[in-house]
Amino acid sequence: MAFTIPQNCTGCGSCAAGCPVQCIEMQADLEGFRYPQIDAARCISCQKCEKMCPVIRSAPAQAQPQAYAVKHRDDEVRIRSSSGGVFPALAELVLADGGVVCGAVYADDFSVVHQITENAAGIEKMQGAKYAQSRTEHLFSEIRRILEAGRWLLFVGTPCQVAGLKAFLGKDYEKLILVDTICHGVPSPEAWERYLRYRREKDADDSVINAINQRDKCSGWSNYGYSVRIDYQNGKTYCTQQNKDIYLQGFVNNLYLRPSCAQCLFKGNARCADLTLGDYWGVWDQYPQADDNKGVSLVLVNTQKGAAYWERIGEALDAFPVDLQAALAQNPSAVSSSAPHEKRDLFFERMAACEFGPLVSELLFGASQKQSLLGRILRKIRK
Ligand SMILES: Cc1cc2nc3c(=O)[nH]c(=O)nc-3n(C[C@H](O)[C@H](O)[C@H](O)COP(=O)(O)OP(=O)(O)OC[C@H]3O[C@@H](n4cnc5c(N)ncnc54)[C@H](O)[C@@H]3O)c2cc1C
Repeated sequence: MAFTIPQNCTGCGSCAAGCPVQCIEMQADLEGFRYPQIDAARCISCQKCEKMCPVIRSAPAQAQPQAYAVKHRDDEVRIRSSSGGVFPALAELVLADGGVVCGAVYADDFSVVHQITENAAGIEKMQGAKYAQSRTEHLFSEIRRILEAGRWLLFVGTPCQVAGLKAFLGKDYEKLILVDTICHGVPSPEAWERYLRYRREKDADDSVINAINQRDKCSGWSNYGYSVRIDYQNGKTYCTQQNKDIYLQGFVNNLYLRPSCAQCLFKGNARCADLTLGDYWGVWDQYPQADDNKGVSLVLVNTQKGAAYWERIGEALDAFPVDLQAALAQNPSAVSSSAPHEKRDLFFERMAACEFGPLVSELLFGASQKQSLLGRILRKIRK
């Protein structure tokens, strides 16, 4: 019997990567999210795909983690990172141990994809959160080969990606460090592409994009003060605080998240990762002396292996233990799924036909301010 794809498939791709006859391909649906497509004629009904599906296999519940507030000691490293720069410190340690690091980068076309690197330049490209769902499954077999060769490997991704890799591997490796992020949810790659097209036309006469930073700290980090910055080849730059960027507004209001993010199985105590990284939102109230507006991370140490690795990292980071419940209270995405915006379906129905910015603005805030101003003027004239 062929694989029945679970309703809340996360698109991790472990089924496609593990199929012994390669009869499963990941393909984007109309919303732009990737799902397995099975060639039933080639399927041998071995059911390996079901055994490797992290949604079908339930994730083990874990003990209460230890929580820390953390900052990288090098401010320049921290500025390039989303929050406190914990990821680059973990990555440096793995490289120093002769290992490799797997994390998310922007591809040449600025779609988001996981890559494997063995050097500092590769780590730098991985720094910073990229708010679109990343692809991972093309690397799963390579990751297993590296681990079988006895090398250290650090994998960083969303909780469902970590669960997917773990299910694909099917056993623990002593030198595998799994790290997930606190995750609000993953936006549609198609929405991301349409946003970039909209920005290029609006800001830069369709110029090519040179660089993107969705967590730029030129306007700070505290009180969610970070900015989105896009640099274009024609010398123009778009830079605006996150609460004025239409893409991030749609993201935080759950307008184009993956359906499975509405019922995430890998949050809270169900984490598969050794360590969890997030922003320490609210640190400015709880520990104001630790907040210098350049970013503070919240780190959860979930497993014994995570604790052993965490012990070794001391040098590069400033860290102090914090109360887990108090920290999580400021960061609901750590434990709760993101309920879809009531106009999510309408967004995807109209996405292909409408200009990205005005569509999101209309769905989130009603008629644009310009239109309502015009309406007010017209009404006055008619009186
Ligand atoms: C989609 C998404 C949603 C998030 N939501 C929250 C949230 O609600 N609350 C919160 O506290 N933190 C959230 N985070 C995590 C946070 O933004 C930082 O990534 C985290 O705090 C690590 O920061 P850092 O300074 O240590 O690492 P950085 O140097 O910023 O490194 C970022 C790491 O995240 C990985 N990464 C980047 N983009 C992606 C992606 N699209 N998919 C998978 N992995 C990726 C990179 O490989 C890298 O390892 C989210 C991250 C992502 C990617």
